[in-house]
Amino acid sequence: MATNPTDDRRTTTVPATDDRFAVPLRGVAVDRETRCAHWDSALDVVALRFGCCETYYPCDACHDAATDHAAEPWPRDRFDEPAVLCGACGATLTARAYLDGGSEVSHASGSEGQSPSGNRASSGDSRTQSGDDACPHCGAAFNPGCRRHRDRYFEA
Ligand SMILES: [Zn+2]
Ligand SMILES: [Zn+2]
Ligand SMILES: [Zn+2]
Repeated sequence: MATNPTDDRRTTTVPATDDRFAVPLRGVAVDRETRCAHWDSALDVVALRFGCCETYYPCDACHDAATDHAAEPWPRDRFDEPAVLCGACGATLTARAYLDGGSEVSHASGSEGQSPSGNRASSGDSRTQSGDDACPHCGAAFNPGCRRHRDRYFEA
């Protein structure tokens, strides 16, 4: 589907971290936007930080493959710390900002029709659900499925 040639894929395991990212990150066949061997759609550009090792992984399967300990979700009492990486722009979000999602950002009084102005000339029309699951910095759409699995990543 994507037009770009197969991106640079790297597998990084403990104790190394992937030096392409500003935060400590590991995973299996991770591309430059944090897609991985398990989640590889246009929307899968999120990496999540785990409480056990304070390192970001594209998904929990990556965590289990890259480490030899059990994954622990990000602790609730640290939800105001960065715990989510947008692989598209490299911004980090706090767990709270990610979980609250667009509901705060896009719930502007009155006009619902304000589109997240798309200067993104990139390929793909992945932002069909504007505001719901998207990076507040660059507007990249996130996979809503991640939040369905939020109990794996964030302490309930
Ligand atoms: Zn861990
Ligand atoms: Zn993965
Ligand atoms: Zn972003």
